[in-house]
Amino acid sequence: MRELNLVAAGKLAWFDRPEPALSGDEDAIVRPFVVSRCDGDCLPIHRNVSRVMQAGLRAGLLDPAVGGICGPVPFAGPFPIGHECVAEVVEVGTAVTGVRAGDKVVVPWAVSCGRCGNCRRGLTSKCSAARREDGAERVLSAYGFGRASGPYGGMASDLLRVPHADHMLVRVPDGLDPLRVAAASDNLADGWRAVVPYLRSRPGATVLVVGGGAQSIGLYAAGLAAAHGASVDYVDSSSRRMAIAESLGATARERSRRSTRPEGAYDVVVEASSSTAGIRAAIRSTAPGGVCTAVGYYVAANTGIPLMHMYANDVTLRLGVSHPRAVLPELLDWVRDNDFPAEKVTTELADFDEAPSAYAARTTKLVLHRPPLS
Ligand SMILES: [Zn+2]
Ligand SMILES: [Zn+2]
Repeated sequence: MRELNLVAAGKLAWFDRPEPALSGDEDAIVRPFVVSRCDGDCLPIHRNVSRVMQAGLRAGLLDPAVGGICGPVPFAGPFPIGHECVAEVVEVGTAVTGVRAGDKVVVPWAVSCGRCGNCRRGLTSKCSAARREDGAERVLSAYGFGRASGPYGGMASDLLRVPHADHMLVRVPDGLDPLRVAAASDNLADGWRAVVPYLRSRPGATVLVVGGGAQSIGLYAAGLAAAHGASVDYVDSSSRRMAIAESLGATARERSRRSTRPEGAYDVVVEASSSTAGIRAAIRSTAPGGVCTAVGYYVAANTGIPLMHMYANDVTLRLGVSHPRAVLPELLDWVRDNDFPAEKVTTELADFDEAPSAYAARTTKLVLHRPPLS
């Protein structure tokens, strides 16, 4: 079977691999037919970061957690890439009762068991069982980050093995177009967690999204917040993304990428520029008692977070991997019931077979697709 690998920056290729087989009675084999590129994947695809990051780790300029996720040689190719997909179930183990062959399912980016303490608390991307599977002790257990995050491969593949299938796989509700929830495995769920819980507990809250590096997450967050009735300001240096934000109900304005200037005072702030300048500006744009969720990668050991400003204004900074499995059933139903046009964020829709060239595209959100078997 084919498995898309990132060979080096800008260079991707199909590798021929043996088809995965059920390794336990709780496994499933699925066939991805909608695969979406995570914002984070653009870092090693579009920039030759591997050598710089190795040097940064050695010199202590990068946080050591980077090595825990990506290994001491971050993003060294080739490794199987891709961790957002909607798939069709092909085969299930004898203990799997919740899904069967032919079901269309979302596969979360992180592997989780659904039974451990962390999973029960909703911290599914920090599942204690999955992180220790096959005798390892990993920071994350996930698809598409290379061997340091486990043996699961990448989702831009002909077939995929999914452990704990009854828990992991979330069926796409009837009547919901899989292309609409192409990014539910990660980026759409990430946008959800950054705004929806806060708007529910605080109706009428004002929202600011600082867009940029986490390109699609910022747009999903802006759209989801607007669809929940919030007044949303979206700032970015890209006119194309600003237009998408406007089409999702936000008010967009231009902002320079390196600016640390605050944008005002908002109750709910989403930092999606994925830059240290952006996170400082986002925190300083958070109103007293407000919450700022940062969804980018901040790899520097020293990011200059304005702690005194946070103290003086009682600002909460929320930072962490997203836990899509915990919110997927609610998110998918909500998208269907509210006819939320998440596909507006997709800027390039390509044929699955074109993955090696399409995945390298400099575009906000790439989605690959092919017809399902049934
Ligand atoms: Zn991701
Ligand atoms: Zn677990």
